[in-house]
Amino acid sequence: MDFPQFDGDRVDLIRTLGESRVAVLNVGADLRSSEASLGLARSYPFVFASCGVHPHDAKTFTPTAEAELEELLRRGAVAVGECGLDFYRDLSPRDGQVRAFRAQLRLARRQELPVILHERSAWETFIAVLREERPPRGVVHAFAGDADRAREIVALGLHLGIGGPLTYRRNESLRRAAAAIPLDRILPETDSPYLPPEPFRGQCNDPGKVRLVAERLAAVRGMPVAELAAITWDNACRLFSITPRF
Ligand SMILES: [Zn+2]
Repeated sequence: MDFPQFDGDRVDLIRTLGESRVAVLNVGADLRSSEASLGLARSYPFVFASCGVHPHDAKTFTPTAEAELEELLRRGAVAVGECGLDFYRDLSPRDGQVRAFRAQLRLARRQELPVILHERSAWETFIAVLREERPPRGVVHAFAGDADRAREIVALGLHLGIGGPLTYRRNESLRRAAAAIPLDRILPETDSPYLPPEPFRGQCNDPGKVRLVAERLAAVRGMPVAELAAITWDNACRLFSITPRF
């Protein structure tokens, strides 16, 4: 919600989300957006902040930046992230991405916080780093793999964040993955302003559209959407130790 895409209607949109009882986990991608997330979380009792440095920005993850991130996390963040590896766009050198990823996993351990993980085209290295660093708990967000990869994530004790791509016509493999794993490891998400669900492809995504993801997930799991929503709501509250108030 701190992105410029929301500059025109941020306050109205957040008010509408609160009225619809949609809670928000606002995810930082660098120090600046992490700080903005904390600001939003201070203003609304149903908005929570995660602070971290995205692999795209790993080249900015100097020792000074790490110390600043550690300080930001102490100011009420409920998670570290997003952090991880992106060898698809390669916007930061890969060795630097691995270094920033490891450092943030260790930060999460020290501060006993869950992690929000990003992975794209870096699966082997991603899993190897996770096996070595063993983060206590967390979520692989915008999961895009198949059922085998989903099971690997679950075996590491982690959750899967499933977003708009679940609704895309050609994404049968993600639907099979979403059907194959225990429901208590699934978190419906939006990745706003990206990855809008059908029928909003090509438009700006917002957290209210998580409803469409939940509806599709309920259909995939063959259960009523209210039941799925209640279970996944509890999953999120437990993982991030949060209690949204409206
Ligand atoms: Zn991401």
